[in-house]
Amino acid sequence: MAADCIFCRIVAGTIPATKVFEDEQSLAFRDLHPATPVHVLVIPKEHIASTAHAVESHASLLGHLMLVAAKVAEQEGLAKGFRLVANTGADGGQTVDHLHLHVLGGRSMTWPPG
Ligand code: 5GP
Ligand code: ZN
Repeated sequence: MAADCIFCRIVAGTIPATKVFEDEQSLAFRDLHPATPVHVLVIPKEHIASTAHAVESHASLLGHLMLVAAKVAEQEGLAKGFRLVANTGADGGQTVDHLHLHVLGGRSMTWPPG
C-alpha cells in the first residue's frame, strides 16, 4: 500500500467508495465523476503505479482484472458492449497513479478517443 494513494485508501476503507465487486485480489467501484451511464473502475488491491510499471510476476493478476471487468460489465447489464480503458502515464491521461481499468458503457461510443 502506498500511503498517499487514493485507490490504496479506498482498498483500506479509509476513503468511501461504492463497491460493485470485490475479491481477494481486486476491487471494483463506481467512478466519482462518471463519463458514461455506467463507469466502474477495476483495480488490483496491490499497489502497481500503472500498466507501464507492471512486471512479469503480475501477469496472472492483470489477466484476472480483465475477467473481473467482463464480470462487472455483465453484472451492470452491458450486453450491447462496453469499453475497457487503461490510461497510462501523462500522455495517456492517467491522473491516479494506481493501475486501474475503466469499464465504460451504457451508451454507444465513438473511436478514436480524444
Ligand atoms: P485516470 O484519469 O487516472 O485514468 O482515472 C482516474 C479516475 O478516478 C477518474 O475517472 C476519476 O474520476 C476517478 N477518481 C478520482 N478520485 C476518485 C475517488 O476518490 N473516488 C472514486 N470513486 N473515483 C475517483
Ligand atoms: Zn495505490
